[in-house]
Amino acid sequence: MEKLHEEFVRYGSNAKHWLRQCALLLPEIARQEIWRAKGFGSIYEYAAKLAGMSKSQVDTALWVMNKIDDKPELKKVIEEKGVNIVRPIANLATKETASFWAEKASEMSKHELETYAKDYRQQICPGAKTTETIEMSLDPAVADQLKKMKGDRDWNTFMKELMDGQTKPEPAQTKQVPTRIKNAVRARTNGICSYPGCHKPAEELHHANRQAINPTHDPNHIHALCKSHHHLAHHSLIANENKQPREWRLLKHPDKFDPKYQVDQKFRRHVHASHTP
Ligand SMILES: [Zn+2]
Ligand SMILES: [Zn+2]
Repeated sequence: MEKLHEEFVRYGSNAKHWLRQCALLLPEIARQEIWRAKGFGSIYEYAAKLAGMSKSQVDTALWVMNKIDDKPELKKVIEEKGVNIVRPIANLATKETASFWAEKASEMSKHELETYAKDYRQQICPGAKTTETIEMSLDPAVADQLKKMKGDRDWNTFMKELMDGQTKPEPAQTKQVPTRIKNAVRARTNGICSYPGCHKPAEELHHANRQAINPTHDPNHIHALCKSHHHLAHHSLIANENKQPREWRLLKHPDKFDPKYQVDQKFRRHVHASHTP
């Protein structure tokens, strides 16, 4: 069984390698219309018959290669990891930022890079919106109670305090987050990822202070996150993690002097084991 599997893995990785090489050659084949000279009806027919590439593989390869034509750093990543990995950032990378994105693309999975790129865009050019009005229909008694609670604070300050409402921290007897705290944390965002602007289901709980450093289950520093944002957190790429998620920002590079960085390096090596930090 092992032998069969190993053989499959070896052939598979060779197949992937050769397909990547094909993708790299495609733009030039398209430009010189070599497919026509060789009697094929289109580049798609050429790539399908000769390399088993699908139409969407060809489109992706041509589109990405065209976008990064002047960015050798990203071409190198493609040689190693294929065109797909570079796709999320092909439009975003400039000549100046190409090496930055190449570094991210070689460290991250495609999903992680997609999420990082989306948040990066949002952070660079956040919409013009500075406030948002929410209309609520409340039972008069509830409305009255709410106004009383608010007192003379402005609504923004009041709502922030309300959202950060205290559930007491507990020393960590086990690595398992106690159900009471788990529920309180998940309730804060209704089971949705806490990362600003993300609306994916929260799949994992994250100790912003890292359990390995601070073995407490403090609900104010535990956050429900989707898988991608949880991974970005352990790439040490989120700043202000000790504050509430609305103040979180993406980092361009991890702070290697932050003790969390060491913990995260270790965590990512054991990413297949169950989550503890
Ligand atoms: Zn975590
Ligand atoms: Zn998320």
